[in-house]
Amino acid sequence: AMTKEWLGGTTIFAEMSALALRTGAINLGQGFPDTDGPESVREAAVRALRDGLGNQYPPGPGVPELRSAVVDHQLRRYGLTYDPDTEVLVTAGATEAIAAALLALVGQGDEVIALEPYYDSYAACIGMAGGVRVPVTLRPRDGAYHLDLDELRDAVTDRTRLILLNTPHNPTGTVLSRGELAAIAELAVERDLLVVTDEVYEHLVFEGEHLPLAAFPGMRERTLTISSGGKTFAFTGWKVGWITGVPALVTAVRSAKQFLTYVASGPFQYAIAEALRLPDSYFDTLRAGLRAKRDILADGLAAAGFDVYRPAGTYFITTDIRPLGETDGFAFCRALPERCGVVAVPNAVFYDHQKEGAPFVRFAFCKRDEVLREAAERLRNLR
Ligand code: PMP
Ligand code: GLN
Repeated sequence: AMTKEWLGGTTIFAEMSALALRTGAINLGQGFPDTDGPESVREAAVRALRDGLGNQYPPGPGVPELRSAVVDHQLRRYGLTYDPDTEVLVTAGATEAIAAALLALVGQGDEVIALEPYYDSYAACIGMAGGVRVPVTLRPRDGAYHLDLDELRDAVTDRTRLILLNTPHNPTGTVLSRGELAAIAELAVERDLLVVTDEVYEHLVFEGEHLPLAAFPGMRERTLTISSGGKTFAFTGWKVGWITGVPALVTAVRSAKQFLTYVASGPFQYAIAEALRLPDSYFDTLRAGLRAKRDILADGLAAAGFDVYRPAGTYFITTDIRPLGETDGFAFCRALPERCGVVAVPNAVFYDHQKEGAPFVRFAFCKRDEVLREAAERLRNLR
């Protein structure tokens, strides 16, 4: 084969967004907002450009303004303390943080445990690092997806290098509970494992609360935490992400990162630094607005006959298409634009055990209310 299996041609998001453009369908496939983030943050980016901030290579670890804003955010939100000079690294979105962390830490043949279904870049990056992915499957029960802690424990072997976690979880919308996170932390300490935790949806939580794994006992020294400005501030195109952890781990990630992009997004780093300092009301309004959007689309999907896993977090809804008499999410998603003018993503692409994911389909609700209402109306006319 010309390409390695984990590179898989084009991503499902690119394929489905192209299908949406070709057919003029409403794109609820790829997760990106159809409204840009706050005017004040856009203005901060314009100011940075005009004032010559970040128009040339920014410092390798990221601009000091953003590193200290990340540190203040982790302290204000979660009581976590980090040193801005040695424990924070700015990356080209969370995507680069994931890649650099895996390339830095995973060696040939090392096993990486990841919650399945997993965000598509995980498999690719584990593969590029020469690692072996070991999926632990989240399973639907009582309207939500659950982690089987025994299965997680059984997945750990002498070759396990790290656990790659994601909470709030894409695509299921699950937010790991305090009990689940405590059990994961205990396991990591007991088996002396590193954890890379992808928390890009930390502010998109509608039930319960987001708890960072790094705050659990024994975890600060073995956890790399990843987040980004893309989801929280609705600027997915700016590609400003970051990773926090103890100096030895962050230094390792930085040595990989310097050969990927070296640095990125100069002026936008200054703007996201300002965004992280927005008052609590910004984050509350974001959450309330997205919760309402979740309900518009979830109610619409239920009315259209889908089984709906109403998510506790993220901006995705996973549905089961079997009540519609369908079993193959791939075929369903490829036909959906023609059938009713809506684009969605088959969850099977997020699985090694593709059969487990076959009847599930993901819809994104980070869209204007009227777009979601129109999509719900179209889905009701599905035939
Ligand atoms: N992790 C997860 C779970 C995601 O859903 C996404 C975006 N879809 C990313 C990482 C990538 O984030 P960024 O755009 O900041 O690279
Ligand atoms: N994270 C987005 C999603 O899950 C897509 C990002 C991408 O296209 N790579 O939809």
